[in-house]
Amino acid sequence: MRGKRSKQYRKLMQQYGMVFGFREPYQVLVDAQTIQDTEHFKMDLLSGLERTLSGKVKPMITQCSIRHLYTLSDLSQPEKDALISTAKTMERRRCNHHTLDEALSTLECLSNVIDPKKSLTNKHRYIVASQDEDVRRFCREVRGVPLVYVKRSVMVMEPMAEGSMGVREDIERSKFSSGLRGRGAGLLGKRKRGEDEGPDVHVRKDKPVTSIPEVDKTAVKKKKAKGPKGPNPLSVKKAKKGERRRSKAR
Ligand SMILES: [Zn+2]
Repeated sequence: MRGKRSKQYRKLMQQYGMVFGFREPYQVLVDAQTIQDTEHFKMDLLSGLERTLSGKVKPMITQCSIRHLYTLSDLSQPEKDALISTAKTMERRRCNHHTLDEALSTLECLSNVIDPKKSLTNKHRYIVASQDEDVRRFCREVRGVPLVYVKRSVMVMEPMAEGSMGVREDIERSKFSSGLRGRGAGLLGKRKRGEDEGPDVHVRKDKPVTSIPEVDKTAVKKKKAKGPKGPNPLSVKKAKKGERRRSKAR
């Protein structure tokens, strides 16, 4: 289950990368409650984020979120200090709300930081780690905001929101019409094929082929088209490349 989920998240981040240009180190806006909850579950926030997002992360905290930690009333001073020292390891995101008498709510602050012009775009490519339902609801409306939160003691990433999916589909469609199509040529197709090619070349050059290639029929067909008779399938080593890839793709 774990492996499955991390593979799913890796794909998701690849999609955010392709469609919205997310690059490592990922800038993650962390709210005060996330710091509290990860501390509560004795989770390491940074490594949790890096594992979930499968990449290098630059955690950031707004001035308001830091103030939320300072003004927590139901914790002892040492508990508060622990949270604050975690927050201090993060890069401070100047929201410039520090001149106000009181910190803004997480929703008010983060919505202003993520999309100040209310254009529904995530211009700075922030990822948001928030325990606040309203914050995440807001973020789903903005295109291209990866969302992370802590559910019990597990860090989870939300699937891509519908609005963002629309953008993704538009891009896929335009790629499709410009001819970048074919099997496995979706968003992730390119990389996958590249990965497969490496070992393939290797095996072909260094090791003799011992097994009888099952899908060699295609290769035989090709040869047939060119020459009079197809060669003995057992001797067709050159067809190995195409055959191998095809069987892997299945
Ligand atoms: Zn703020």
